[in-house]
Amino acid sequence: MESASEAPIVKIVNSILLAALDKKATHVHIVPEETAVLVKLRVNSHLETLVTPPREYAQNLVNRLKILSGMDILQRRLPQEGYFRVRSEDQFFDVDVATFPVRNGEQVVLTFQQPFSKEELRLENLGMTPEMLEAYRKVIAADRGLVLVVGPPDSGKTSTIYASLNALKSPNRVTFTYENPIKNRLADINQAEPNERAGLSFAQGLRALVKQDIDYLMVGEVPSTEVFSTVVEAALGRTLVFARMVFNNTLGVIPHVLEQGVAPFMLYSALSAVMGQRLVRRLCPECLESFEPPGPVREELRQATGRDNPRLYRAVGCRACGGTGYRGRIGVFELLVPDDHMRQLILANAPAEEIAQAARDNGFRTLIEDGLTKAVDGMTTYEEVRGIK
Ligand SMILES: [Zn+2]
Repeated sequence: MESASEAPIVKIVNSILLAALDKKATHVHIVPEETAVLVKLRVNSHLETLVTPPREYAQNLVNRLKILSGMDILQRRLPQEGYFRVRSEDQFFDVDVATFPVRNGEQVVLTFQQPFSKEELRLENLGMTPEMLEAYRKVIAADRGLVLVVGPPDSGKTSTIYASLNALKSPNRVTFTYENPIKNRLADINQAEPNERAGLSFAQGLRALVKQDIDYLMVGEVPSTEVFSTVVEAALGRTLVFARMVFNNTLGVIPHVLEQGVAPFMLYSALSAVMGQRLVRRLCPECLESFEPPGPVREELRQATGRDNPRLYRAVGCRACGGTGYRGRIGVFELLVPDDHMRQLILANAPAEEIAQAARDNGFRTLIEDGLTKAVDGMTTYEEVRGIK
Protein backbone atom coordinates (compact mmCIF):
# COMPACT_ATOMS: atom_id res chain seq x y z
CA MET A 1 0.00 0.00 0.00
CA GLU A 2 1.08 3.54 -0.65
CA SER A 3 2.13 4.94 2.67
CA ALA A 4 0.91 8.43 1.77
CA SER A 5 -2.67 7.27 1.45
CA GLU A 6 -2.59 4.85 4.36
CA ALA A 7 -3.20 7.25 7.22
CA PRO A 8 -6.33 8.83 5.68
CA ILE A 9 -7.72 5.35 4.99
CA VAL A 10 -7.24 4.33 8.64
CA LYS A 11 -9.09 7.48 9.65
CA ILE A 12 -11.93 6.86 7.21
CA VAL A 13 -12.36 3.27 8.36
CA ASN A 14 -12.31 4.32 12.01
CA SER A 15 -14.93 6.98 11.41
CA ILE A 16 -17.15 4.51 9.53
CA LEU A 17 -16.89 2.10 12.48
CA LEU A 18 -17.64 4.85 14.99
CA ALA A 19 -20.68 5.98 13.00
CA ALA A 20 -21.93 2.39 12.81
CA LEU A 21 -21.57 1.96 16.60
CA ASP A 22 -23.13 5.32 17.27
CA LYS A 23 -26.20 4.54 15.16
CA LYS A 24 -26.35 0.93 16.46
CA ALA A 25 -26.08 -0.35 12.91
CA THR A 26 -26.24 -4.09 12.40
CA HIS A 27 -24.40 -4.02 9.06
CA VAL A 28 -22.06 -1.82 7.02
CA HIS A 29 -21.98 -2.26 3.24
CA ILE A 30 -19.00 -1.03 1.23
CA VAL A 31 -19.93 -1.15 -2.44
CA PRO A 32 -17.59 -0.02 -5.26
CA GLU A 33 -19.45 1.83 -8.05
CA GLU A 34 -18.16 3.39 -11.29
CA THR A 35 -17.31 6.77 -9.81
CA ALA A 36 -17.53 6.37 -6.05
CA VAL A 37 -17.65 3.93 -3.18
CA LEU A 38 -21.02 3.66 -1.48
CA VAL A 39 -20.77 3.19 2.28
CA LYS A 40 -24.17 2.22 3.68
CA LEU A 41 -25.41 1.34 7.16
CA ARG A 42 -28.30 -0.90 8.05
CA VAL A 43 -30.07 0.64 11.02
CA ASN A 44 -33.34 -0.85 12.33
CA SER A 45 -33.40 -3.02 9.22
CA HIS A 46 -33.26 -0.04 6.82
CA LEU A 47 -30.25 0.76 4.63
CA GLU A 48 -29.01 4.34 4.59
CA THR A 49 -26.02 5.88 2.81
CA LEU A 50 -23.35 7.16 5.21
CA VAL A 51 -20.65 8.53 2.89
CA THR A 52 -19.56 8.18 -0.74
CA PRO A 53 -15.76 8.47 -0.92
CA PRO A 54 -14.24 8.76 -4.44
CA ARG A 55 -13.54 5.62 -6.46
CA GLU A 56 -9.76 5.87 -5.87
CA TYR A 57 -10.27 4.91 -2.24
CA ALA A 58 -12.04 1.64 -3.04
CA GLN A 59 -9.11 -0.77 -2.99
CA ASN A 60 -7.41 0.81 0.03
CA LEU A 61 -10.65 0.69 2.00
CA VAL A 62 -11.04 -2.98 1.17
CA ASN A 63 -7.38 -3.67 1.99
CA ARG A 64 -7.63 -1.97 5.36
CA LEU A 65 -10.65 -4.10 6.29
CA LYS A 66 -8.92 -7.24 5.03
CA ILE A 67 -5.88 -6.52 7.19
CA LEU A 68 -8.06 -5.85 10.24
CA SER A 69 -9.93 -9.10 9.79
CA GLY A 70 -6.92 -11.27 8.98
CA MET A 71 -7.65 -11.86 5.29
CA ASP A 72 -5.30 -12.24 2.33
CA ILE A 73 -5.14 -8.78 0.70
CA LEU A 74 -3.79 -10.16 -2.57
CA GLN A 75 -6.73 -12.52 -3.04
CA ARG A 76 -9.33 -10.44 -4.88
CA ARG A 77 -11.06 -13.05 -6.98
CA LEU A 78 -12.54 -15.25 -4.27
CA PRO A 79 -14.88 -14.35 -1.41
CA GLN A 80 -13.22 -14.28 2.01
CA GLU A 81 -14.47 -14.23 5.59
CA GLY A 82 -12.86 -12.92 8.77
CA TYR A 83 -13.57 -10.88 11.83
CA PHE A 84 -12.08 -8.29 14.15
CA ARG A 85 -12.99 -6.51 17.37
CA VAL A 86 -13.49 -2.85 18.04
CA ARG A 87 -13.50 -1.22 21.40
CA SER A 88 -15.80 1.66 22.16
CA GLU A 89 -15.65 3.04 25.68
CA ASP A 90 -15.64 -0.11 27.83
CA GLN A 91 -17.39 -2.40 25.41
CA PHE A 92 -15.96 -4.74 22.83
CA PHE A 93 -17.84 -5.32 19.60
CA ASP A 94 -17.18 -8.27 17.34
CA VAL A 95 -17.42 -7.52 13.66
CA ASP A 96 -17.76 -10.29 11.08
CA VAL A 97 -16.33 -9.31 7.70
CA ALA A 98 -17.19 -10.91 4.34
CA THR A 99 -15.87 -9.89 0.93
CA PHE A 100 -17.41 -10.69 -2.44
CA PRO A 101 -15.90 -9.98 -5.89
CA VAL A 102 -18.17 -7.75 -7.99
CA ARG A 103 -17.88 -5.98 -11.37
CA ASN A 104 -16.12 -2.91 -9.97
CA GLY A 105 -13.83 -4.68 -7.54
CA GLU A 106 -14.76 -6.18 -4.20
CA GLN A 107 -17.78 -5.53 -2.06
CA VAL A 108 -17.39 -5.82 1.73
CA VAL A 109 -20.14 -6.34 4.27
CA LEU A 110 -19.48 -5.96 8.00
CA THR A 111 -21.88 -7.56 10.48
CA PHE A 112 -21.85 -6.19 14.02
CA GLN A 113 -22.51 -8.58 16.87
CA GLN A 114 -24.37 -6.68 19.55
CA PRO A 115 -22.52 -7.08 22.84
CA PHE A 116 -24.25 -8.38 25.93
CA SER A 117 -25.10 -5.85 28.59
CA LYS A 118 -24.29 -6.57 32.24
CA GLU A 119 -28.01 -7.00 32.92
CA GLU A 120 -28.36 -9.60 30.19
CA LEU A 121 -25.62 -11.66 31.76
CA ARG A 122 -27.49 -12.31 35.00
CA LEU A 123 -29.25 -15.65 35.38
CA GLU A 124 -32.31 -14.06 36.97
CA ASN A 125 -32.84 -11.78 33.97
CA LEU A 126 -32.94 -14.44 31.26
CA GLY A 127 -36.63 -15.24 31.72
CA MET A 128 -36.59 -18.49 33.71
CA THR A 129 -39.51 -19.04 36.08
CA PRO A 130 -38.47 -19.02 39.77
CA GLU A 131 -38.97 -22.83 39.96
CA MET A 132 -36.79 -23.44 36.91
CA LEU A 133 -34.15 -21.01 38.10
CA GLU A 134 -33.94 -22.87 41.40
CA ALA A 135 -33.64 -26.24 39.65
CA TYR A 136 -31.02 -24.86 37.27
CA ARG A 137 -28.99 -23.30 40.08
CA LYS A 138 -28.92 -26.70 41.79
CA VAL A 139 -27.59 -28.30 38.59
CA ILE A 140 -24.76 -25.79 38.20
CA ALA A 141 -23.82 -25.91 41.87
CA ALA A 142 -22.23 -29.33 41.16
CA ASP A 143 -18.45 -29.70 40.85
CA ARG A 144 -18.62 -31.71 37.68
CA GLY A 145 -20.98 -32.81 34.95
CA LEU A 146 -22.25 -31.86 31.53
CA VAL A 147 -24.91 -29.22 30.87
CA LEU A 148 -26.08 -29.28 27.25
CA VAL A 149 -27.64 -26.00 26.12
CA VAL A 150 -29.52 -26.59 22.88
CA GLY A 151 -31.60 -24.62 20.40
CA PRO A 152 -31.49 -23.22 16.86
CA PRO A 153 -29.10 -20.35 15.98
CA ASP A 154 -29.99 -17.07 17.73
CA SER A 155 -31.96 -18.70 20.54
CA GLY A 156 -30.03 -17.17 23.45
CA LYS A 157 -27.84 -20.19 24.29
CA THR A 158 -24.68 -18.12 24.65
CA SER A 159 -26.38 -15.66 27.04
CA THR A 160 -27.49 -18.56 29.23
CA ILE A 161 -24.01 -20.04 29.42
CA TYR A 162 -22.25 -16.69 29.91
CA ALA A 163 -24.73 -15.82 32.68
CA SER A 164 -24.07 -19.21 34.29
CA LEU A 165 -20.30 -18.67 34.23
CA ASN A 166 -20.77 -15.17 35.61
CA ALA A 167 -22.78 -16.59 38.50
CA LEU A 168 -20.14 -19.26 39.20
CA LYS A 169 -16.84 -17.46 38.64
CA SER A 170 -14.64 -16.77 41.63
CA PRO A 171 -10.95 -16.11 42.22
CA ASN A 172 -10.65 -19.65 43.63
CA ARG A 173 -11.96 -21.28 40.49
CA VAL A 174 -10.61 -21.60 36.97
CA THR A 175 -13.25 -20.57 34.42
CA PHE A 176 -12.75 -20.85 30.66
CA THR A 177 -14.72 -20.37 27.48
CA TYR A 178 -13.67 -22.12 24.30
CA GLU A 179 -15.49 -21.17 21.10
CA ASN A 180 -14.74 -20.23 17.53
CA PRO A 181 -14.65 -17.27 17.49
CA ILE A 182 -14.96 -15.78 20.98
CA LYS A 183 -18.40 -14.14 20.88
CA ASN A 184 -17.97 -11.53 23.59
CA ARG A 185 -15.24 -10.49 26.00
CA LEU A 186 -16.17 -11.43 29.56
CA ALA A 187 -14.64 -9.87 32.65
CA ASP A 188 -12.60 -12.17 34.93
CA ILE A 189 -13.13 -15.20 32.70
CA ASN A 190 -10.40 -16.82 30.60
CA GLN A 191 -11.30 -17.16 26.96
CA ALA A 192 -9.64 -19.19 24.25
CA GLU A 193 -10.27 -20.01 20.63
CA PRO A 194 -8.71 -22.41 18.13
CA ASN A 195 -6.31 -21.14 15.50
CA GLU A 196 -6.76 -23.09 12.29
CA ARG A 197 -4.19 -21.00 10.45
CA ALA A 198 -1.52 -21.87 13.00
CA GLY A 199 -2.57 -25.51 12.73
CA LEU A 200 -4.61 -25.72 15.94
CA SER A 201 -7.98 -27.24 15.13
CA PHE A 202 -11.03 -26.95 17.37
CA ALA A 203 -10.73 -30.54 18.58
CA GLN A 204 -6.96 -30.33 19.19
CA GLY A 205 -7.28 -27.07 21.10
CA LEU A 206 -10.03 -28.50 23.29
CA ARG A 207 -8.06 -31.66 24.05
CA ALA A 208 -5.13 -29.53 25.23
CA LEU A 209 -7.35 -27.11 27.14
CA VAL A 210 -9.08 -29.75 29.28
CA LYS A 211 -5.67 -30.63 30.74
CA GLN A 212 -5.42 -27.12 32.21
CA ASP A 213 -7.16 -28.06 35.50
CA ILE A 214 -10.40 -26.19 34.78
CA ASP A 215 -13.38 -25.92 37.11
CA TYR A 216 -15.96 -24.39 34.75
CA LEU A 217 -15.68 -24.73 30.99
CA MET A 218 -17.89 -23.54 28.18
CA VAL A 219 -17.49 -25.37 24.88
CA GLY A 220 -18.92 -23.36 22.00
CA GLU A 221 -19.67 -26.13 19.56
CA VAL A 222 -19.76 -29.90 19.73
CA PRO A 223 -19.59 -30.69 16.03
CA SER A 224 -17.80 -34.05 16.00
CA THR A 225 -17.50 -37.33 17.84
CA GLU A 226 -13.97 -36.40 18.84
CA VAL A 227 -15.12 -33.16 20.49
CA PHE A 228 -18.01 -34.96 22.18
CA SER A 229 -15.69 -37.55 23.70
CA THR A 230 -13.36 -34.86 25.05
CA VAL A 231 -16.30 -32.96 26.54
CA VAL A 232 -17.79 -36.04 28.22
CA GLU A 233 -14.42 -37.13 29.59
CA ALA A 234 -13.83 -33.68 31.09
CA ALA A 235 -17.32 -33.76 32.63
CA LEU A 236 -16.56 -37.13 34.18
CA GLY A 237 -13.39 -35.74 35.68
CA ARG A 238 -13.66 -32.66 37.80
CA THR A 239 -14.96 -30.03 35.40
CA LEU A 240 -18.46 -28.65 35.04
CA VAL A 241 -18.84 -28.34 31.27
CA PHE A 242 -21.45 -26.22 29.48
CA ALA A 243 -21.76 -27.28 25.85
CA ARG A 244 -23.62 -25.18 23.31
CA MET A 245 -25.33 -27.16 20.56
CA VAL A 246 -27.40 -26.17 17.56
CA PHE A 247 -30.21 -28.71 17.91
CA ASN A 248 -33.96 -28.14 17.86
CA ASN A 249 -35.23 -31.05 19.90
CA THR A 250 -34.32 -30.84 23.59
CA LEU A 251 -35.21 -34.41 24.53
CA GLY A 252 -34.05 -35.82 21.20
CA VAL A 253 -30.53 -34.60 21.93
CA ILE A 254 -29.84 -37.61 24.17
CA PRO A 255 -30.29 -40.25 21.43
CA HIS A 256 -28.45 -37.86 19.08
CA VAL A 257 -25.39 -37.68 21.34
CA LEU A 258 -25.37 -41.47 21.65
CA GLU A 259 -25.56 -41.76 17.85
CA GLN A 260 -22.41 -39.60 17.71
CA GLY A 261 -20.57 -42.50 19.31
CA VAL A 262 -20.51 -41.43 22.97
CA ALA A 263 -20.78 -44.58 25.09
CA PRO A 264 -24.15 -44.79 26.93
CA PHE A 265 -22.47 -45.52 30.29
CA MET A 266 -20.38 -42.34 29.94
CA LEU A 267 -23.33 -40.08 29.13
CA TYR A 268 -25.27 -41.89 31.88
CA SER A 269 -22.86 -40.61 34.52
CA ALA A 270 -21.80 -37.34 32.88
CA LEU A 271 -25.09 -35.68 31.90
CA SER A 272 -26.29 -33.14 34.48
CA ALA A 273 -29.02 -31.43 32.46
CA VAL A 274 -30.29 -30.49 29.03
CA MET A 275 -31.56 -26.94 28.66
CA GLY A 276 -33.57 -26.19 25.51
CA GLN A 277 -34.41 -22.62 24.64
CA ARG A 278 -35.76 -20.06 22.19
CA LEU A 279 -36.17 -16.27 22.21
CA VAL A 280 -39.49 -14.43 21.92
CA ARG A 281 -40.08 -10.69 21.75
CA ARG A 282 -40.75 -9.08 25.11
CA LEU A 283 -43.90 -6.93 25.32
CA CYS A 284 -43.29 -3.29 26.18
CA PRO A 285 -44.51 -2.97 29.80
CA GLU A 286 -45.48 0.68 29.24
CA CYS A 287 -48.15 0.12 26.60
CA LEU A 288 -49.28 -3.53 26.58
CA GLU A 289 -53.02 -4.12 26.59
CA SER A 290 -54.83 -6.97 28.32
CA PHE A 291 -57.70 -8.87 26.69
CA GLU A 292 -59.92 -11.88 27.25
CA PRO A 293 -58.75 -14.79 25.07
CA PRO A 294 -61.38 -16.56 22.92
CA GLY A 295 -62.87 -19.83 24.27
CA PRO A 296 -60.62 -22.51 22.71
CA VAL A 297 -57.47 -20.50 23.46
CA ARG A 298 -58.63 -19.99 27.05
CA GLU A 299 -58.94 -23.76 27.46
CA GLU A 300 -55.47 -24.30 25.99
CA LEU A 301 -54.02 -21.69 28.36
CA ARG A 302 -55.78 -23.26 31.36
CA GLN A 303 -54.25 -26.62 30.59
CA ALA A 304 -50.77 -25.28 29.87
CA THR A 305 -50.53 -22.86 32.80
CA GLY A 306 -52.99 -24.20 35.40
CA ARG A 307 -54.50 -20.70 35.77
CA ASP A 308 -58.29 -20.44 36.21
CA ASN A 309 -58.89 -17.17 34.36
CA PRO A 310 -55.93 -16.66 32.05
CA ARG A 311 -55.75 -13.36 30.17
CA LEU A 312 -53.54 -12.43 27.25
CA TYR A 313 -51.80 -9.23 26.23
CA ARG A 314 -51.29 -7.49 22.90
CA ALA A 315 -48.61 -5.14 21.60
CA VAL A 316 -49.79 -1.53 21.18
CA GLY A 317 -46.81 0.79 20.70
CA CYS A 318 -45.70 3.93 22.51
CA ARG A 319 -42.76 6.31 22.72
CA ALA A 320 -40.77 4.02 25.02
CA CYS A 321 -40.78 1.18 22.49
CA GLY A 322 -40.50 3.23 19.30
CA GLY A 323 -44.09 2.39 18.38
CA THR A 324 -43.43 -1.36 18.03
CA GLY A 325 -45.10 -2.59 21.23
CA TYR A 326 -42.04 -4.71 22.01
CA ARG A 327 -38.80 -4.14 23.89
CA GLY A 328 -36.00 -6.64 23.55
CA ARG A 329 -36.38 -10.38 23.79
CA ILE A 330 -36.83 -12.93 26.53
CA GLY A 331 -35.90 -16.62 26.79
CA VAL A 332 -38.40 -19.47 26.74
CA PHE A 333 -36.97 -22.61 28.31
CA GLU A 334 -37.37 -26.30 28.92
CA LEU A 335 -35.09 -28.03 31.38
CA LEU A 336 -34.45 -31.74 31.70
CA VAL A 337 -32.63 -32.88 34.83
CA PRO A 338 -32.32 -36.65 34.49
CA ASP A 339 -33.58 -38.71 37.45
CA ASP A 340 -32.59 -42.34 38.09
CA HIS A 341 -35.20 -43.67 35.69
CA MET A 342 -34.01 -41.33 32.93
CA ARG A 343 -30.42 -42.39 33.53
CA GLN A 344 -31.43 -46.04 33.12
CA LEU A 345 -33.02 -45.11 29.78
CA ILE A 346 -29.78 -43.40 28.69
CA LEU A 347 -27.82 -46.50 29.73
CA ALA A 348 -30.22 -48.65 27.69
CA ASN A 349 -29.93 -46.32 24.68
CA ALA A 350 -33.73 -45.93 24.70
CA PRO A 351 -35.55 -44.39 21.71
CA ALA A 352 -36.53 -40.70 21.72
CA GLU A 353 -40.26 -41.42 22.34
CA GLU A 354 -39.51 -43.36 25.51
CA ILE A 355 -37.25 -40.58 26.79
CA ALA A 356 -39.92 -37.97 26.04
CA GLN A 357 -42.59 -40.02 27.83
CA ALA A 358 -40.39 -40.50 30.90
CA ALA A 359 -39.64 -36.77 30.99
CA ARG A 360 -43.36 -35.92 30.82
CA ASP A 361 -44.13 -38.41 33.59
CA ASN A 362 -41.52 -36.67 35.69
CA GLY A 363 -43.12 -33.20 35.26
CA PHE A 364 -41.06 -31.89 32.33
CA ARG A 365 -42.62 -28.62 31.09
CA THR A 366 -42.30 -27.94 27.37
CA LEU A 367 -41.14 -24.75 25.67
CA ILE A 368 -44.73 -24.02 24.64
CA GLU A 369 -46.01 -24.43 28.21
CA ASP A 370 -43.27 -22.18 29.51
CA GLY A 371 -44.00 -19.66 26.74
CA LEU A 372 -47.75 -19.65 27.39
CA THR A 373 -47.07 -18.97 31.07
CA LYS A 374 -45.06 -15.94 29.95
CA ALA A 375 -47.94 -14.90 27.67
CA VAL A 376 -50.53 -14.97 30.48
CA ASP A 377 -48.03 -13.07 32.67
CA GLY A 378 -47.91 -10.29 30.05
CA MET A 379 -44.26 -10.81 29.14
CA THR A 380 -44.95 -11.76 25.52
CA THR A 381 -47.86 -12.42 23.14
CA TYR A 382 -49.69 -15.64 22.34
CA GLU A 383 -48.60 -15.27 18.70
CA GLU A 384 -44.91 -15.06 19.63
CA VAL A 385 -45.19 -18.31 21.61
CA ARG A 386 -47.19 -20.07 18.91
CA GLY A 387 -44.52 -19.04 16.41
CA ILE A 388 -41.91 -21.13 18.25
CA LYS A 389 -40.55 -23.90 16.06
ZN1 LIG B 1 -44.48 0.70 24.41
